Amino acid sequence: MYCPNCGSSINENAEICVHCGVNVLKFDTQVTVVKNDTPNMWVNILSLCCFPIIGVIIYFVWKDTQPKAAKAAIIYALFGIAIKIILMIFAFIIGLTAEMMDDSYYYE
Ligand SMILES: [Zn+2]
Repeated sequence: MYCPNCGSSINENAEICVHCGVNVLKFDTQVTVVKNDTPNMWVNILSLCCFPIIGVIIYFVWKDTQPKAAKAAIIYALFGIAIKIILMIFAFIIGLTAEMMDDSYYYE
């Protein structure tokens, strides 16, 4: 690989550039921070309340460049899916209950 500071060719596993003395690992994390890797509130809200699929897509798009934001998006998406499933189960139970009440009404 190449030193991010001076551009010299250095060992793959080197932590410090032998040419300029810069800490290569430290440089790496600085580059990541610059990429604005923070959870995106709007993506999270959309994933949670309306379109969980957005969170899933965002996760695959961002997981290499913005792992933190991608992780937040997929978590909200999973929550959104879970909430939808719970609502469906509730609707199903309420539907069954209504049907049962209809039946008992008939037999009286
Ligand atoms: Zn260097």
